[in-house]
Amino acid sequence: MQKHKINLLFVDDEDRFLESMTRLLEARDFNVVAVNRGEKAIEAARNHPVDIALVDLKMPGIDGEETLRALKKEHQWMEIVILTGHGSIDSAVECTKNGAYLYLQKPCDLEELLEALKNAYKKRVMNKNAIEEKRMNELLRVSQSSSPRDILKRLKEIDAG
Ligand SMILES: [Mg+2]
Repeated sequence: MQKHKINLLFVDDEDRFLESMTRLLEARDFNVVAVNRGEKAIEAARNHPVDIALVDLKMPGIDGEETLRALKKEHQWMEIVILTGHGSIDSAVECTKNGAYLYLQKPCDLEELLEALKNAYKKRVMNKNAIEEKRMNELLRVSQSSSPRDILKRLKEIDAG
């Protein structure tokens, strides 16, 4: 039986760092999609299953903050860890206000990073379960109190949500 792996989207414009970290993360059983631009990260998240993302803050083109916003908008359950260099702490803090799970300073300790990624994944799973439970309760409520036509309409809305 295949072991369950966490699907990680990793974006960083420093190619050497991206490659070496990707190898380390793959050795720790992450399924990694590695890209070096925010634009590519947004595109990759549309074409691959992604549980969590690791996003560099400073990148040319679409930076980490914009990438975070775009990913969160399109993928409601995705949790995102921001990587930041020295001098960008204010923007990193801003990112957590905009929905990032956590920010870590570069260079970061591998064990600390792994811990952060695993916790981000746990949060993602809990969020997803909570949302599905909410939908299920709504479904029950609607089915008890509405006409068949209203039920169908609400079901479609809940399914689209
Ligand atoms: Mg960078």
